[in-house]
Amino acid sequence: MVERCRDVGFDLAREAVEVSPTAHYIMGGVKIDTTCRSNLEGLFVAGEDSCGVHGANRLGGNGVACSTVFGGMAGDHMAAYIANCEAPTASMPQARDVITRITAPFGNSGGEDVYELRDELKALMWEQVGLVRHASGLEAAKKALEVLQQRAQQAPVRGGTRLNAEWQEWLNLDSMCTVSQMIVASALAREESRGSHYRSDFSEPGDDAVVHNIYLQWDGERMRQWTEPVVFSRLKPPPLAAKIAEEAYFAQEGE
Ligand SMILES: Cc1cc2nc3c(=O)[nH]c(=O)nc-3n(C[C@H](O)[C@H](O)[C@H](O)COP(=O)(O)OP(=O)(O)OC[C@H]3O[C@@H](n4cnc5c(N)ncnc54)[C@H](O)[C@@H]3O)c2cc1C
Repeated sequence: MVERCRDVGFDLAREAVEVSPTAHYIMGGVKIDTTCRSNLEGLFVAGEDSCGVHGANRLGGNGVACSTVFGGMAGDHMAAYIANCEAPTASMPQARDVITRITAPFGNSGGEDVYELRDELKALMWEQVGLVRHASGLEAAKKALEVLQQRAQQAPVRGGTRLNAEWQEWLNLDSMCTVSQMIVASALAREESRGSHYRSDFSEPGDDAVVHNIYLQWDGERMRQWTEPVVFSRLKPPPLAAKIAEEAYFAQEGE
């Protein structure tokens, strides 16, 4: 850190350095089995996408652990899976549908700038779905995101299909709008504060007896959402509310 700051002209030892929160991890992931397989045939998951395993917790180093542990497991199981499976046959009508969908922006005339729309998405997520969340802001974000995704789909892309950063951005923006809608849906569904998810309208952790995971499934048009209780197979953590009260007590004693 000292070296990195020095490289950009700041001396951590001698002067104040401005710091700011940033999103650097998603505490959730794709539902997988113990061989890193998802329910989509042939799709294995590793790295940050596999890391619902840490729950609401985000300690430094979890990201690297997820990449190495699940990357190793997924690689081993994938190698065994591929050795025994036939080469897939492509569905041409399905491929044509995908091509039509992803090349659509080349035919768009008018519409808004894709980079400005991305900045608008970032600002919206930061303001309404950032550090402190509230039902009213989340509901506003939900509505705004639906409109933003439609506006993004109307945005034009210039140039051709080779090495086209604007096209890549258009594709990313559509995916980011979808992921953002899923984040908002789960933040609305979790009516408690737990880990890094803080709701000013539900500022305490919920009932530990019914700790649950939230599942979301997007079929391209609609989102399905349900909850399942967390299964503690080896160790059950102490009740969160009791733990917080205990920490507060010892902090007071320390003073
Ligand atoms: C600022 C910051 C600081 C962090 N600090 C730490 C830390 O100190 N310790 C820690 O453990 N973790 C840290 N993390 C988290 C950690 O870096 C990530 O969890 C980890 O890198 C995720 O690895 P991954 O392989 O799952 O995904 P990524 O590293 O995101 O890799 C995904 C790759 O897929 C590529 N890709 C995306 N779309 C496509 C596509 N359509 N086709 C082909 N390729 C594609 C991307 O370009 C990328 O190279 C930090 C994250 C950030 C942002």
